[in-house]
Amino acid sequence: MSVLVVGSTALDSIKTPWRENPRLLGGSASHAAVAASFFGPVRLVGVVGDDFPRRYLSLFERRGIDLEGLERAAGKTFHWSGEYEVNMNRRRTLKTELGVFETFRPTLPQAWRRTPYVLLANIAPELQHHVLDQMVRPRWVIADTMDLWLNIALKPLIRLLRRIDALVLNDGEARQLTGEDNVLVALRKIHHLGPRFVMVKKGEHGAIVSGPDGLFLAPAFPLDRLVDPTGAGDSFVGGLIGYLASQQGSIRRNLRRAVVHGSVVAAFCCEGFGLTRTVKSSMDEIRFRVRALEKMTGF
Ligand code: AMP
Repeated sequence: MSVLVVGSTALDSIKTPWRENPRLLGGSASHAAVAASFFGPVRLVGVVGDDFPRRYLSLFERRGIDLEGLERAAGKTFHWSGEYEVNMNRRRTLKTELGVFETFRPTLPQAWRRTPYVLLANIAPELQHHVLDQMVRPRWVIADTMDLWLNIALKPLIRLLRRIDALVLNDGEARQLTGEDNVLVALRKIHHLGPRFVMVKKGEHGAIVSGPDGLFLAPAFPLDRLVDPTGAGDSFVGGLIGYLASQQGSIRRNLRRAVVHGSVVAAFCCEGFGLTRTVKSSMDEIRFRVRALEKMTGF
């Protein structure tokens, strides 16, 4: 089944202590759509400006990502730049230039409104609402967010929580949203705000998933070399929903394996700048790492 992804489609300028790479293909929706595309058909909703390189559109097309909902507007593509410290868990946003996203109000293609799986990747909550308003009875909706929206758009974000099945956020954001240091207490509070499934990401330490069947402590795939973690969170949620959409049976039954597939795609993302390593990965490599994780965590 198809997955609809809305979020940022961006050019990212990324600086690590070792290298600098300007204007790479990035954005929450780009990472998530590419991750989901390993498993099945993906529909991408976003906007790019006239400075968006043709080769990035071709990259999406080669992966079978449907671009009918990707608007090409006059103006500049969303541009984000960030800098990592030696400890790559620490990142500083240097610039966020919204460009054509400032006025983006997409109208979804008619045929896309019944897409069963919906990923509201990180973007302004008002835009997430706007897309969700146009969907007709989706089977499963998951949303991602970031600290910026907790700071400047808390009200629409809280309203969104009533409308989605699942929320994914990192541990710092869970703390900010609930005012709770303890993750279990934070999870309970977030469930209370709406979503039946909540996933708290803890970077290299994996994720805690809470749902109707209790907790799942999801592993991260251990890496000995981190090149650029930008987009890891988006790859995680993209891989997760892509896998879910590709499987028969109930979401509750498939969720744990979906989360592990998300972790594995996120690990590939961290091994290269931007999307460079992710797009070189194969389904065989993903399966191999999923089996390795099974061995590492089974007891
Ligand atoms: P992550 O590393 O998973 O937090 O995601 C990084 C991606 O988020 C980058 O590719 C950025 O282009 C994108 N991004 C950064 N800030 C924003 C924002 N305010 N809204 C939407 N996307 C953003």
